[in-house]
Amino acid sequence: MNSDAVLTDVAVLGAGAIGLTIAYELARRGRTVTLVDRDPLAAIEREVCTIETPPRSATSWAASGILPPANLETATDPIEQLRGLSHRLFPGLVDRLIDETGIDPHLVRCGGWYLSDTIGETASMVGMASYWRDLSIECHETDLAELAIREPALESWTHRASVGRAWWVPDEYQICTPLYLQALIEACRKLGVTMLDETCVDGIDEHEKGATISIHARHVDAGHDGERAPHGRHLQAEQTVLCGGVWSGLISDRLKLAQSLVPVRGQILLLKTDAPILSSVINLGQRYLVPRRDGAILVGSCEEEVGFQHGTTPKVLSELRQFVRELCPQLQSARELAAWSGLRPLTFDGFPMCGKVPGSDSVFVAAGHFRSGIHLSPGTAVCMADMVCGVQPQVDMVPFAVGKQQHHHLS
Ligand SMILES: Cc1cc2nc3c(=O)[nH]c(=O)nc-3n(C[C@H](O)[C@H](O)[C@H](O)COP(=O)(O)OP(=O)(O)OC[C@H]3O[C@@H](n4cnc5c(N)ncnc54)[C@H](O)[C@@H]3O)c2cc1C
Repeated sequence: MNSDAVLTDVAVLGAGAIGLTIAYELARRGRTVTLVDRDPLAAIEREVCTIETPPRSATSWAASGILPPANLETATDPIEQLRGLSHRLFPGLVDRLIDETGIDPHLVRCGGWYLSDTIGETASMVGMASYWRDLSIECHETDLAELAIREPALESWTHRASVGRAWWVPDEYQICTPLYLQALIEACRKLGVTMLDETCVDGIDEHEKGATISIHARHVDAGHDGERAPHGRHLQAEQTVLCGGVWSGLISDRLKLAQSLVPVRGQILLLKTDAPILSSVINLGQRYLVPRRDGAILVGSCEEEVGFQHGTTPKVLSELRQFVRELCPQLQSARELAAWSGLRPLTFDGFPMCGKVPGSDSVFVAAGHFRSGIHLSPGTAVCMADMVCGVQPQVDMVPFAVGKQQHHHLS
């Protein structure tokens, strides 16, 4: 064992939405937690962090913050159960974060419109609406004239849409993701979580007392708030939770997760109008508009398989502008504040992997939440903290077992 090692009960590797909520939940339960991330975890000015290009590589900073409806009481599908638990936990979590940190993540039950413009989109929405009704989730098909009254900025679309139909879903929330992450960072700090930021994880070696985690500082210069690890230092953890998002498979060959996650890039355009022109989330096929409480409107998104390459492209941004022109022409005169991309972590079966690494006593993984990592973060955190503390989680986590994604490579 290395003599200059940092000792901790639990090492949480990765400080996106998943790692931060897990670190927060474990610290609330009295565990000594060390959170490691290669990005800075210093505070960004609140006003700036909501309008500027995400300053970090983590996918969570890029997310739109749509939280679609869910119902824990009626859900039978494992993902819907985790979503239902998260949906139920979100308001209480946000109230606590506001109390503890003074940072308001702007959680709003704004409702969502689901529109269809083609026969395929209509078929898929008819199925979705019936699925939601089976789960006792409110979803009302609404006259296009009613849509035009409630969202006047969409009036021209209601006249133009050839096979247009609209559904109103009142239990859709939105959250301002950068503020949510800021609040979580601050809350972790206040609970005494040790933050090793701008610190890369190079490997995890398990042994009888837990794991030795190799880390190194990204820069050796001064001028940041975190407790930086010097070059080549180690972290000794009784338990380890790997929350590296789409990069989780690259951190340690021994965990055999390299083939488990595929990056799927999404791009976002951020607009600003002088006065608010929309009040709810507007979903149309894979695209959406999210009117934030600060007056900005997020336009998203796309799904691209381009490996681990970040960045926006003129083609996708022009498609997003075209989407805006067709759906909400009033937004054409909006100012473009920023554009950014993020890499969604996709697993081959679409389920996140949450649980202990096969054959390991002390190393857990929570990654692969694809398009729902913000929404699923409160439920994931509670269930992962249960597993780490040896308590039976309230949602069946077996369908999310780690390793099934690797079976074809192990055989
Ligand atoms: C455009 C877009 C829109 C989205 N919209 C929504 C939405 O509306 N609702 C929703 O619920 N979800 C949404 N998502 C999905 C959501 O963002 C992801 O599911 C979620 O962010 C995954 O969180 P994570 O914590 O697992 O990963 P990340 O946020 O990527 O965090 C992983 C962390 O691990 C760190 N890390 C990785 N490797 C190392 C290493 N070797 N050493 C140190 N640190 C390391 C990274 O720096 C990073 O901070 C969206 C995603 C995109 C791209």
